[in-house]
Amino acid sequence: MTDLFDKFRPLERQYADLVAAAGTDPLSVRVERIFSPTEAQVGGRRCVLLGSNNYLGLTFDSDALEAASRAVQEAGTGTTGSRVANGSYASHQDLERQLAAFYGYSHAILFTTGYQANVGFLSAVAGRDDTILIDADSHASIYDGCKLGDATVMRFKHNDPRDLDRRLRRLGEGSNKLVVVEGIYSMRGDRAPLAELVEVAKAHNAYIVVDEAHSLGVFGPNGEGLTHELGLEKEVDFIIGTFSKSVGTIGGFCVSNHPELEAIRVSARSYLFTASLPPAVVAAASTTLGRIERDPAQREKLWANTDIVYDGLVRLGFDVGPDKTPVIGVMMPEMQTGLRVWQTLLENGVYVNLALPPATPRDTCLLRCSVCAEHTREQLETVLAGFEHAAHHLTPHADAAE
Ligand code: PMP
Repeated sequence: MTDLFDKFRPLERQYADLVAAAGTDPLSVRVERIFSPTEAQVGGRRCVLLGSNNYLGLTFDSDALEAASRAVQEAGTGTTGSRVANGSYASHQDLERQLAAFYGYSHAILFTTGYQANVGFLSAVAGRDDTILIDADSHASIYDGCKLGDATVMRFKHNDPRDLDRRLRRLGEGSNKLVVVEGIYSMRGDRAPLAELVEVAKAHNAYIVVDEAHSLGVFGPNGEGLTHELGLEKEVDFIIGTFSKSVGTIGGFCVSNHPELEAIRVSARSYLFTASLPPAVVAAASTTLGRIERDPAQREKLWANTDIVYDGLVRLGFDVGPDKTPVIGVMMPEMQTGLRVWQTLLENGVYVNLALPPATPRDTCLLRCSVCAEHTREQLETVLAGFEHAAHHLTPHADAAE
């Protein structure tokens, strides 16, 4: 007799073995109290947050707190409906106009999360006769959007314009082609060679989508992302983004100069069949987006802190990925060691993201750190001291006697 749940047994066993060998269960850890963008009580201990995606530290922006409080009092806790039914408020449309103006594009569409933006947009925009070419290290939401749609899907080698060129050449002139890349990749923190990728895409008449989830607020003259940092906004057809990182709340969007973006409102299922963003979230996002645009000093602080963490980890001998960005993926040799390093960091007051397959490329294990503009010098010293302390797990046979 088989059981519906048999398929989970190998995964359950593998996880239980891993937890037993490392002596810690990362899924049991909870943030018990949050004190600021950079500090929380985790597992009974006050910790520096180093895996929050909160690059600009805007989750406690005083104007956003006030705007969100006002919105919740005035408009309630939720819209209880989709944008195409009762859930389209003036504030959603205002935020779409703000997003379009921020990016210098003519059209913007809001989604309830960044995940839903990718899933809804990609599954709707590319049809049966079209081909989507995605970077092999793409986020799950890009993969899922491709799965949900009818287009032919191809992967090209991570950050490899020559491989993209080869694949586009093979496709020939026949079908419409859409190339999807990310500004900063969420696991290793490496940035796309966007100018080269755009050049290849355009040479083959392909459309190009850039997911700026981790680059919004980090790159660009006004914090728009990598596309604007490189002056490629005319060449890039669509930008996807999220409010769940630098913007400090939740929500997703797509902006473009193609007026056909409006057709996505009636074809993306993740737009049609889910409730719209609550008013307080819209108010917070609008406020912090304004701050991102107005406040380059916050970005400068982020980059100064990035220098300290990235250079410090390199000095300590950690494998931190090729590009210096606020997303720092510290490679671990295998999962058990990864868990031990993660646990030692926690015991030393540093909370990072433990990233395991399938979230990581090529079945690797890494500790995903994200730097915040609000990290103090003292907190960064705690971080580097924690890593120095945990480094002994990486010496061969170091844990054999434990
Ligand atoms: N795209 C990328 C590249 C991401 O890293 C993420 C979130 N980790 C998303 C999209 C989804 O964003 P959200 O949290 O808003 O669903």
